[in-house]
Amino acid sequence: MKNISILGSTGSIGTQTLEIVRENKDKIKVHALSGNSNINLLERQINEFEPAICAVMNKENAEKLKSRISGKTKVVCGMDGLVQSVCANGVDIAVTAISGMIGLKPTIEAIRCGKDIALANKETLVAGGEMVMSLARKHNVNIMPVDSEHSAIFQSLMGNEVNKIKKILLTASGGPFRGKTLKELETVSLADTLNHPNWSMGKKITVDSATLMNKGLEAIEAKWLFDLTPEQIEVVVHPQSIIHSAVEYDDHSVIAQMGNPDMKIPIQLALFYPYRLKNNLKSLDLFEIGKLTFEKPDMNTFKCLKLAFEAMKIGKSMPIVLNKANELAVEMLIRKEIKFLDIQNMVEDIMLRHTPVEAASFDEILEIAKWTAANIKKPN
Ligand code: NDP
Ligand code: MG
Repeated sequence: MKNISILGSTGSIGTQTLEIVRENKDKIKVHALSGNSNINLLERQINEFEPAICAVMNKENAEKLKSRISGKTKVVCGMDGLVQSVCANGVDIAVTAISGMIGLKPTIEAIRCGKDIALANKETLVAGGEMVMSLARKHNVNIMPVDSEHSAIFQSLMGNEVNKIKKILLTASGGPFRGKTLKELETVSLADTLNHPNWSMGKKITVDSATLMNKGLEAIEAKWLFDLTPEQIEVVVHPQSIIHSAVEYDDHSVIAQMGNPDMKIPIQLALFYPYRLKNNLKSLDLFEIGKLTFEKPDMNTFKCLKLAFEAMKIGKSMPIVLNKANELAVEMLIRKEIKFLDIQNMVEDIMLRHTPVEAASFDEILEIAKWTAANIKKPN
């Protein structure tokens, strides 16, 4: 029996993780849940899964939740609460399904407590990749990728541990605006931006998929997870989202992982690796799909992807600035304070004004994030 703690159990990845738990009650149990604003859902999840702990970031929400549930589940709050929920005795795996850099601290603490990580929260690795990976090595902790592309790379590496990676092919759907020109992107609406063709996900990552920043963040995530150079990462636009990514070896053999676009497959593997458990998903029907197509990404129009590769090459504090500026800009877009193209322009602008410095400790990373928040400029 495995015990898990879910950071962000009310989100898209969190709820899909709970569906897997529901289908495998004899193999996996929820020790802790956590969320921020959606206490109605947390209440239902507590009633169903009866965790020992539930962490709520927002203090008032934590108090409200406490008054609604029985005493069996201990409700804790704030960042300390999130850390308690992943470090609790009895937790085997922490599923990091919070959105944004806020996930960095609890992830680091979970690793320090020796918990294995099922990592969905890519912003954590973008901001703190060096620290997270070295801590994981030090504490002998497994970091299992949940992101579908990284799970595909992980699976394409299975059985090939003795071979060097020549490069990886990181596939991208291209998002809802694939093929659009800069002129056309000037007038896209928030509703269009949130309408992803293949995946149903939280708002932040859905916007990132439309700007292609998601693929840029994933490239940096891949660099840290698989110890790659930027030159070893090639982004391939593949609108059908059937090939989830691939690895090319020195003999030019390419091994890919395929499947219907459903996050339950990579989440399940991250929880039960090396076992592939039965589930109730549909088989991949290649006849129904008909054809798989591939395109080069348009990095001049979708500048976020280019900026992410630049930040990765520059290294030091630049990926933190890229990530934080993007998080802030995406929040502004969701609040309808800026337009779609402002995101890439704001990220580019602050990167141009930033002088990279070493930032490998948690406090240094936080400092750079604060600098970014203080210096980001909204367009006039
Ligand atoms: P959602 O927006 O659906 O969920 C985010 C979760 O984080 C919610 O449970 C939310 O709680 C919680 N949360 C948000 N802000 C805070 C905070 N300040 N403190 C504590 N908890 C907080 O996101 P997704 O599930 O889509 O994505 C989660 C992560 O997984 C992201 O990093 C994303 O990039 C990554 N990912 C997601 C994929 C997907 O298919 N969705 C695919 C691959 C990666 P509440 O709702 O209660 O406010
Ligand atoms: Mg992905």
